[in-house]
Amino acid sequence: MDLELLSYGEAAEMIAREVARLREDAEASERSAEVNSNYSEWMALQDARGRILAQRILADRDQPAFARSTRDGYALRVGDLLPTGTTTTLPIAGSTRAGEAVAELPPGSSWEILTGATIPRGADAVVMQEHVEVSGERVCVNRALKAGENIVQQGAEARAGDLLLAPGTLMGAAELALAASCGYTKMRVRARPRVLILTTGDELGEPEIFPQAGQIRNSNATLLRGLAEEAGAEAIVLPSARDEDSALDDAIEAALKTAANFAGKAPVLLVIAGGVSVGRFDLVESALARRKARFHFTGVAIQPGKPVVFGEMPYSDADGDEGPLKFFGLPGNPVSAAVTFRLFVEPVISALAGSKAELPRFWPARIENAWVGKAVLTRFLPAVSESSAMGALDAPMVRLVAWQGSGDLAAFARSNCLVVIPAESRGMEAGEKVRVLLR
Ligand code: AMP
Ligand code: MG
Repeated sequence: MDLELLSYGEAAEMIAREVARLREDAEASERSAEVNSNYSEWMALQDARGRILAQRILADRDQPAFARSTRDGYALRVGDLLPTGTTTTLPIAGSTRAGEAVAELPPGSSWEILTGATIPRGADAVVMQEHVEVSGERVCVNRALKAGENIVQQGAEARAGDLLLAPGTLMGAAELALAASCGYTKMRVRARPRVLILTTGDELGEPEIFPQAGQIRNSNATLLRGLAEEAGAEAIVLPSARDEDSALDDAIEAALKTAANFAGKAPVLLVIAGGVSVGRFDLVESALARRKARFHFTGVAIQPGKPVVFGEMPYSDADGDEGPLKFFGLPGNPVSAAVTFRLFVEPVISALAGSKAELPRFWPARIENAWVGKAVLTRFLPAVSESSAMGALDAPMVRLVAWQGSGDLAAFARSNCLVVIPAESRGMEAGEKVRVLLR
């Protein structure tokens, strides 16, 4: 069962392959049942933020639906203007404000127009209010105008029937606003993946109870719930399990039952925390093996998070036809759990959710303080990036946070990113280029 330790690159590639497979499945189900796929549901516009679109959003009419003025000013015919340097005086024949129907511009005249209003038929430019003199019922123009100036033509943004949002799009404020502008008051979205969270450890107590000697409060249940929700999943926290074979067998059995409840309704992922290192009471891997688990990896050369486990195990629903349940086993140390979640679990949740986002996302930065270490593992060190530091066009500076190792949740909470130190690096000098992962 003990596989070789993978490098970070190898593990990331393994996850990327899994993600690609999940995406192919999602695309196949989109093709076969565009609207009624099992893993999607109707959602009202106001409830769809953060959800992944499971249908296409089309422009229901031209956008804009009418030639629109982008300024307050006067619509006119460019051809009516005298040569540059000569003032043209045009009568103001009427006025249109936003919301009013299209008017008709009489020959040789101008038309008062407000931002967002329909351009009168016959006009081909709008001169800004600030650029003219108005005297009584006349406007005096003394500047050159190009045809189309300050007008967005009908259909310039999109044509009726154009695809505006494709399935797999994460619906944020802008996407929802676009859907609203096309009259979508509800839409088909993908079911949220259900992430079953199982924490393990004899030392764990619930946060509301003051711990006895040697005990600690279970913070990983809260940590993993939050990370899963941030990743677009619905978290289901299972009762924590003790470090005993029978307790773990029962807990995994219960997790599989819960997973079966969602068969055909939503994708499910099991995330176990604790009990995956090599200690005498790290019993999770063997419990998984007893359920005929197949392991993709059982350790990655990273710090923190080296003992991380990824695999899948068979299970069946009442009809006996549910696929394997994918699982992760994360180290119990909070920072290790959080880092391995960001690196490996979140991309899988995102793919299960039907998102097309490429994760994890790294950004370039420069390290502010020097770092010295051994060259063995790819490290992901908690750091703080303050965007106000340094010149605006330079990569942001990041400062490593002092910490007591992967159990130091307090230091981790003070960080806002993770600096990547490549496996072959023995040290980083102040100012050196690094990649960071937002936390
Ligand atoms: P383990 O991975 O089980 O060897 O645990 C490594 C460290 O993480 C130990 O110090 C545990 O006490 C701690 N730990 C394990 N599970 C949790 C949890 N749910 N909440 C907070 N700390 C934990
Ligand atoms: Mg433990």
